[in-house]
Amino acid sequence: MHDEKDGWLRRRKKKDPLALLGVAVIAIGILLLIYGAIPLQRVNYKVVSQGSVPVEDPSNNDSFIADPESYYAAHSPIPLDKVECTPDRICYGLQFNGTTTYHSMPSIYYGSASAGLGLVALIVARRVEPVEDTTVHLRPIRIRVDEDICVANGVCIAIAPNVFQFRSQETPTIFAPMAYVLDPTGADNDTIIEAARMCPTGAIIIEDAETGERIHPPLPKS
Ligand code: SF4
Repeated sequence: MHDEKDGWLRRRKKKDPLALLGVAVIAIGILLLIYGAIPLQRVNYKVVSQGSVPVEDPSNNDSFIADPESYYAAHSPIPLDKVECTPDRICYGLQFNGTTTYHSMPSIYYGSASAGLGLVALIVARRVEPVEDTTVHLRPIRIRVDEDICVANGVCIAIAPNVFQFRSQETPTIFAPMAYVLDPTGADNDTIIEAARMCPTGAIIIEDAETGERIHPPLPKS
């Protein structure tokens, strides 16, 4: 869709950031759901003994016991697969008790929510088309180059070579050739206005051919 006002065309955006965001969020949701579908293994243990570990080892010159888990396992009368101790040195001897298969429920919940949100964003993006911040002048324009301030760097010629050209010099001179308007219809308004905006000295003057309104450079505010 386009809006037209006072000879200016306002374009609607073709790439919608909301739609892109929706696609990205859906992709994240799908990845989370895939992870949630993968069966994971949890190792189970059962408690087979319990006891406390002293701070000092009486059988070793009362030396400090820095690793209560190892001490407990070393002094256990039955073989242990794992030992867990509390900060108070109460330790539990554990033996392997099989494995359990499970799925990551947070991944499934968050994945479903992400995919749903992304879908909503896509639906909203299809209904709402944001306005692009660039405009194009539709009506015919009048162009001239102020040769008094042209510094002959050729930027306008690089952008719109069919519109602007350097004046040819009949005789050699120390002065660079100035730009002039070769063909005002040599490019679309968009390109010509862009060339005028890129002119470092503002030497390219553009007006609305019908109304005479200054398009570039903007007139100073009174
Ligand atoms: S860009 Fe401006 S200064 Fe450079 S050649 Fe064109 S009119 Fe002259």
